[in-house]
Amino acid sequence: MRLLIDEVDNTNFPMENDDACKKRKRQKKSEVWPEMTKIVDSKGESRYECKHCHFQLAQIKSGTTSHLKRHLTHGKRYFLP
Ligand SMILES: [Zn+2]
Repeated sequence: MRLLIDEVDNTNFPMENDDACKKRKRQKKSEVWPEMTKIVDSKGESRYECKHCHFQLAQIKSGTTSHLKRHLTHGKRYFLP
């Protein structure tokens, strides 16, 4: 029974870590949106367009913006002072 209780306690800590990770992810997303314009192409598919070089990036269904951030960290070296 003590082992079972320990397992329950251990599952509570990862939940707290998940909340912390979600907050960090939200902050990362907000960094991206001032640099990206959400557009709809001729096929009716949502895309993101970089405001600096007008490069178009696909909208990933899972909602991840890591590819947008990767583009911006690359683009800022060339398009921002
Ligand atoms: Zn760009």
